[in-house]
Amino acid sequence: MTGDQSLCQEIVDTARALSPKGLGVGRSGNVSARCADGMLITPSGVPYETMSVDDIVQVNEAGNVPENSLEPSSEWRFHQAIYQSRPEAGAVVHCHSRFATVLACARTPIPAFHYMVAVAGGADIACADYAVFGSEDLSRSVISALNGRSACLMANHGQVAFGNTLAAAFELACEVEELSAQYCEALKLNRVHLLSTVEMDAVLERFKSYGRNA
Ligand code: 13P
Ligand code: ZN
Repeated sequence: MTGDQSLCQEIVDTARALSPKGLGVGRSGNVSARCADGMLITPSGVPYETMSVDDIVQVNEAGNVPENSLEPSSEWRFHQAIYQSRPEAGAVVHCHSRFATVLACARTPIPAFHYMVAVAGGADIACADYAVFGSEDLSRSVISALNGRSACLMANHGQVAFGNTLAAAFELACEVEELSAQYCEALKLNRVHLLSTVEMDAVLERFKSYGRNA
């Protein structure tokens, strides 16, 4: 297998893991990884169970795909915009996971209700403004909601997370889903206590050195 082929295999494996990990059903969501001339991304509308390595589409920096390839994910624009604006991004996972989507439908960002919110790189996780799927407007609103973070919710749609590897992007998407579920439950108590800016700054400082054993 060439480097790109094994990356394509990793993309297929990551996309196939979305449903068993509770990050979505059917063919919703999409997965990509940065490559030498742009990115490799899941094809549009292909069920993950039947998706093969050869179905993965290369989209170059100019947004073009090779002849004879399948159509790339309709969301290739925001995947590309993330790679172009965030040099640390090596992989992107977008999904319609249940609780992240519930919050996104209420256009409710995730505040500092739990210290783990800082895992996305800031004191909160924003919700990107609504725009129709696949649009340049959606791409712009995702980039603006990311604002130094590596994940955001997407109004009336779902969530997006990125990392330096596919495993990191996938793990963050799982974490955003878990935080969303916890926050939905906590809201029912009607007395959620939010951490202060000073408390969240201390968490962000700790995260700089956390996880070295991994
Ligand atoms: P694609 O099948 O085109 O990737 O679309 C799925 C999706 O989640 C659109 O937002
Ligand atoms: Zn989507």
